[in-house]
Amino acid sequence: MAFYQYRDVALETIARNIIKKYDASLLFAPVPIPVEDIMEQQYGLRIEFQYIRNNGRILGETVFDDTLVAVYDEEYKMYTLIPAKSGTVFIDASLIACRKDGRFCYTCAHELGHYVLHQDIYTGSGLTAAMFDDQPKKSTDTDKAIERQADRLGCFLLMPAGTVKMAFHRFGRNQSDPILALSKVFEVSRAAMQYRLKEMGLLG
Ligand SMILES: [Zn+2]
Repeated sequence: MAFYQYRDVALETIARNIIKKYDASLLFAPVPIPVEDIMEQQYGLRIEFQYIRNNGRILGETVFDDTLVAVYDEEYKMYTLIPAKSGTVFIDASLIACRKDGRFCYTCAHELGHYVLHQDIYTGSGLTAAMFDDQPKKSTDTDKAIERQADRLGCFLLMPAGTVKMAFHRFGRNQSDPILALSKVFEVSRAAMQYRLKEMGLLG
């Protein structure tokens, strides 16, 4: 299992290159990044909504090899195996209603992060890359580092430093609630926006 420890600055560059290849103008104006379109058009990934677990703990799952994947059948209240092709990204059906609050996009961006960064790790392993709502209990340090990388790349994809800074000075600074204002510009959750603004040193 080849795992490469990227630094955040490298992940940020990777994210910027992904966006640039799709549509460089997205790096020059603060707009929501169409991560779903990037996944489908640039990487040939197919997004499919399924209930992944009965408790909602796994929000996304990327399939690297043609395989069978267990999903939860809400109607029959049981798990069922369905065939899935390489390049399928399952998104939990509960997130269909969360497109506006950013959870859907964040899960997509996280899964794209796995697809871009971790193909070598997962291809041929029989494993899929899942996004847990919280960390699975028995995960190793490497598992955690892999998840962290996907999270970071997802964050950098949805909130590129250049346009976040631009948006902050343009729309955020004079607002009573700059976090809310910017979370709407980028269509991400308030928590994600707050984290990003803090780490960029734009919030006290
Ligand atoms: Zn993950």
